[in-house]
Amino acid sequence: MFLEKDTNTKTRTGWIEVICGSMFSGKTEELIRRLNRARIAKQKVEIFKPQIDKRYSEEDVVSHNANSIRSIPVQSASQILFYANEFDVIGIDEAQFFDDELMSVCNSLADQGVRVIVAGLDMDFQGNPFGPIPQILSVAEYVTKVHAICMRCGNLANYSHRTIAGDKLVMLGETDSYEPLCRACYNKSQKHIENNSLSATE
Ligand code: ZN
Repeated sequence: MFLEKDTNTKTRTGWIEVICGSMFSGKTEELIRRLNRARIAKQKVEIFKPQIDKRYSEEDVVSHNANSIRSIPVQSASQILFYANEFDVIGIDEAQFFDDELMSVCNSLADQGVRVIVAGLDMDFQGNPFGPIPQILSVAEYVTKVHAICMRCGNLANYSHRTIAGDKLVMLGETDSYEPLCRACYNKSQKHIENNSLSATE
């Protein structure tokens, strides 16, 4: 489990933490856990999320176990910079949906002494790196990969497999259309899709 380093020092230094993994891997729960502990330590804490995420309420980052924390929806990554002086710890949820500026935003916040905790999907449903996440993984001091459980075999899962057809990358509010799979089961399901589309064109 990730434990905070002591922050009670004279020189205020910031850093970047990333929590990433597939859907249903507990990213948001882990983000909320860290932020709640910072709050107990009397630090000023806030969560930002991209405006695109309207799955639940506008104002709340809500994790799947309904353990919620209030958040500020923003339209672009650079908007988060305006809040750098107001908070000790800044959480960024659903970070994969932010624009490419997110990495430099996280760097500037950390440079100014903020502890930045980024949570997001590391891969899209096709198994490709998702949005600005790869860049942030490179510059982060701490990276935590969390895992779901494979719906088909019970091993650790790191893929978000889409169970319905469609190429659109962002499908919000449709968590029913995804299942976490391990590498072996994901590959099997991709083969199945390939075979099906081959027989459809024949
Ligand atoms: Zn599996």
